[in-house]
This record gives sequence, structure tokens and C-alpha cells, in this order.
Amino acid sequence: MIVEMQKGAEYRFVLQVLEKIKELGFKYQVNLGEERTVVAILGANTNYLDTQIFGVMDYVEEVKKISKPYKLASRDFKKEDTVVKIGDIEIGSNKVVVMAGPCSVESKEQILASAFAVKKAGGTVLRGGAFKPRTSPFAFQGLGEEGLKLLALAKKEIGLLIATEVMAPEDVSLVAEYADIIQIGTRNMQNYKLLEAVGKCGKTIILKRGMSATIEEWLCASDYILKEQNNGEGVILCERGIRTFETATRSTLDISAVPVVKRVSHLPIIIDPSHAAGDFRYVSSLAKAGIAGGADGLLIEIHPNPKKALSDGAQSLTFSDFSKLMEELKSIASAVGRNI
Ligand code: PEP
Ligand code: MN
Repeated sequence: MIVEMQKGAEYRFVLQVLEKIKELGFKYQVNLGEERTVVAILGANTNYLDTQIFGVMDYVEEVKKISKPYKLASRDFKKEDTVVKIGDIEIGSNKVVVMAGPCSVESKEQILASAFAVKKAGGTVLRGGAFKPRTSPFAFQGLGEEGLKLLALAKKEIGLLIATEVMAPEDVSLVAEYADIIQIGTRNMQNYKLLEAVGKCGKTIILKRGMSATIEEWLCASDYILKEQNNGEGVILCERGIRTFETATRSTLDISAVPVVKRVSHLPIIIDPSHAAGDFRYVSSLAKAGIAGGADGLLIEIHPNPKKALSDGAQSLTFSDFSKLMEELKSIASAVGRNI
């Protein structure tokens, strides 16, 4: 249930609403919107609450039951687009943000070279995996903390934000020491204990769409993170392709997810064309489609020598292909009123 306050309502009237919610045994989250304050009442049985309990309170404009199962990610709770701010970087604003790097951090040379290539081409975030979710337990599992240290070194030397994945709740605090942005991979989208753990860590979270998840399930998963945050603004959604009957690509990039998410949610959404395609030859096209379709950014895998990569080499761009794509994206971004 959502309680919308009147325009310009003083905070003491919001507090009265919050007190009432507590009294009834529910939790809440407050969105101090530009226009008006909105309070979301959170709990399993809010639908049985009588809207009039709040409707009669001072300076309450409207009380609405949200029909969707996700609440905090919904536009009902927050009308304005969320712009995630990390230092002077904004995700979800007019500037398209590009995050790139190797699938796995492999060595000092590899990560420094990649960081330099990302920076030179105009990327904003260096993304590399230290803890890798691999289909086979015998495949390279990542360098672990050593990988995080190498990411930190690259950040210091080259000056980019760092994004990296965490797979287990017990690793969250370690990863949060090094990362500016924490990634939840497709396989963990519904690992609810992990979502709650990252929600509490104070960092921005990239939540990849589960490869077999509906958009509604994905937004519900984002609520698990948002409910742990005070401002409910620390999630970036990432469409990375879903399983369909098509086998020509590794997954099928669901470009429809961009306009759908933009309509029903306030959260920023980025596109990962690399894992969707699984093949470097299709990455450029999908990246351009994502930006043309209104995505707020991209997550792209690159490698100094894709053929020798320890993971996801087949879909990794060379540095020169990446830099060519970044050039080509300029006109696409500007055609949809954005810059890169
Ligand atoms: C990755 O980003 O390297 C990765 C494993 O992605 P996904 O979770 O989308 O498969
Ligand atoms: Mn990968």
C-alpha cells in the first residue's frame, strides 16, 4: 500500500503516518520525491488494511493499493527516474554509462591493460570478476581476493570505478571493501539471502536478470535489495539475455525489457550484450540496439587477447573492436537525445 502526501506537506505529518504504520505492526519506506513524499507500507498483509485508516490523516492526498507484487522498484512508489550517484558519476541520467573489462581478472598485466583500454575508449567503470560463477566446477573459478586486490590496483593506477561480482553472503563484506559497484549474476538473482546481504552493504548493486526470470520476478528480486536500503536507490538492473528456444546465440537479448522496465519501474537499466550474444560478432549490434532502445548503459566484456581468456573469450571484444564500438555509439546515443 502507498500513502501519498499532499504537495508541500511538512515532515511532521509524514511522521504521523509512519507512527501509525508502526503501531499497526508494518514496516515502511519513505520516498522524498521532488513533488511529494510517498510512503510505502511493507508487509505480507497490507492488502487487508483499510485505506481509510490513512486516508483520514492530515495532509494525506491519496492511499493506493499496489496491485503489483513488487513495491519499492515500482513507479507507484517513485515517479521520477532514479539516478544512481557514485562520486561524480551518474547512472540513469542523460549520459550513457559504459562498464567494461574482462570476464575474469587473470593477472596484473591483463587487468591494467584492460583498465587502460576502458578509460581510453571513454568507459566509466572497470568490471572484472574475481569470484566467478562457472557452470562446471572444474572451470577457472576466479582469483578470489587476489583478483579484488588487482582491481583495486587498477583503480588506483587508472582511476575508474570498480564493479565485481559476489556469489555468497559471507563474501559480501570482503567484496564491498574493494568494489564501488557489486554485481549479482544471473544465477543468483533469486538467492534472497545474498540479495539481503548486498542490500545492507551500502554499495550500488547491479542486479542481472535471471536467465529464466520474468520481468516481474526480476523486479521482486530488486525489492529484496531495496528494502534493506534507506533511500531505495542503489540498484541498477541489467538485462543479459534470457533462455529461449533459439540456439544461434547463447541467450536471447530481451530488448523489450528496456521499455517495459522504464514504464513500470524508476530504476536504471543497462544492457549486457556480451552474455546475451555469447559471440563477439554480435556484441556491437546488440549494444547499439540497447542504447537505441533507451538503456542507461552497457556492460561489455573485453580482453587483451580473447582467444587466451580464461573465461568467456568467445564473446569478448578486442580493445580495438571495443574502441570502434564506443565511437559508433556516439551517433546512436545522440539520435535518442543522449550522450556517451
Ligand atoms: C559475468 O558477468 O561474467 C557473468 C557470469 O554474467 P551472468 O551472470 O550474466 O552470466
Ligand atoms: Mn562473463
